[in-house]
Amino acid sequence: MAPLSYEQAIERYEPVIGLETHVELGTRTKMFCACPTDFGAEPNTQVCPVCLGLPGSLPVANRAAIEATIRIGLALNCTIASWSRFARKNYFYPDMPKDFQTSQYDEPLCVDGWLDVEVEGELVRVEIERVHLEEDTGKTLHLGGATGRIHGATESLVDYNRAGIPLVEIVTRPVPGTGSRAPLVARAYVTELRDVIRTLGVSDVRMEQGSLRCDVNVSLNRPGQEWGTRTETKNVNSLRSVERAVRSEIMRQAAVLDSGDRIVQETRHFSEDTGDTRPGRSKETATDYRYFPEPDLVPLAPDAAWVAELKAALPESPRLHRRRLQEAWGLSDHDMQSVLNAGAVELIEATIAAGASPDAARKWWMGELARRANETGTELSSLTSPEQVAALQRLVDEGKLTDKLARTVLEGVVAGEGTPAEVMAARGLEVVSDTGALTAAIDEAIAANPAVADKVRGGQVAAAGVLIGAVMKATKGQADAKTVRELILGRLGS
Ligand SMILES: [Zn+2]
Repeated sequence: MAPLSYEQAIERYEPVIGLETHVELGTRTKMFCACPTDFGAEPNTQVCPVCLGLPGSLPVANRAAIEATIRIGLALNCTIASWSRFARKNYFYPDMPKDFQTSQYDEPLCVDGWLDVEVEGELVRVEIERVHLEEDTGKTLHLGGATGRIHGATESLVDYNRAGIPLVEIVTRPVPGTGSRAPLVARAYVTELRDVIRTLGVSDVRMEQGSLRCDVNVSLNRPGQEWGTRTETKNVNSLRSVERAVRSEIMRQAAVLDSGDRIVQETRHFSEDTGDTRPGRSKETATDYRYFPEPDLVPLAPDAAWVAELKAALPESPRLHRRRLQEAWGLSDHDMQSVLNAGAVELIEATIAAGASPDAARKWWMGELARRANETGTELSSLTSPEQVAALQRLVDEGKLTDKLARTVLEGVVAGEGTPAEVMAARGLEVVSDTGALTAAIDEAIAANPAVADKVRGGQVAAAGVLIGAVMKATKGQADAKTVRELILGRLGS
């Protein structure tokens, strides 16, 4: 099977993508019981008879989770069902204590929506087929092997703390017609979806912690022909991996089809290390799950007035919000994109709210702080707070710090030495504006460089640089160079 380049693959085949995204809701308690949902607790300490599926226990649906799901549906322009039911999805897996998952099947809570995403300056509409509510599984850990997979492991442990945490599944319709931009569209969609859900405040949507997980479907067809067989790549856990998984699956499928073979419908796993996908189990179909309506839960019939109320209270969409900020901050598309890529939008917004100008707020976060975050591989937001950056800029605006001194103060703030004012005082960095001290330093400089002083007196203003340098040195760089220059010229009558 001859490998194809991405460009060759796209020349011969058209990709159709689809995305299934799972979002763990940030409710205080689980979906059908009162167990807490905190991340990182000791294994198997957040469990009870209901989420362990013990005989005789009965579930009760979590109202906050239903409300969050409806809000997600509304934010994705869905129709909210007036009648909806939970269903049992039967499968047998050690991390499923009940041997069925309480999910939704043919009567989901939200249907027929869409989300517009921006790709290279163009809008692409991704249609949403359904948004439904279900519960998460537990977590299995395979120990003793090199890869953390079951192969080669000496023992497997299961933690049920996550079992029963409310999970929202968002399924797109197939997205055809994106051509070579399919990987970018997939990434842009997951990014936008994450931002929408974060704006709603119903989940922390952190891919690295698994509170947002993505399955990527890809199929290829020859131009003008029917859609091909799709594969589903499971649990792709970063935005970058979403893009890479689509790209590598397009190249793999194109090579298979080119050699005359067929694509097998299966689930695959994306490897962060190799950047390609590997086969997993062959894909179950709906009949394998023997869905049937959950007999222990009453149907959901959201009140139309309640839904209308939730809709009226939705926040502005992140895309429109960004557009508004871009205009207010006076940024080009390119500059706005840099801010987005750096994850600095909210930080800059908060810095402006704390009193800084848009230019100053952007300068600090996208300059000194972004550089430091890059160098140390840390999150921008963990370096300092918008309030501190605004306080630093205030000291510059008041003339207490020059830009250069402010950068040194910022170093101290990032190192945890205190507020900008505290660092400035502790390190003695305040601009020397005391005219008496400056005059003394200027007199000394003139006395030490009589020949230079004569040149300046004679009209050679450029020669004053030597004197300015001497004064700056004497004040350890803490004088404002412009003021020093004016004072020297005034003194020498030039
Ligand atoms: Zn429980």
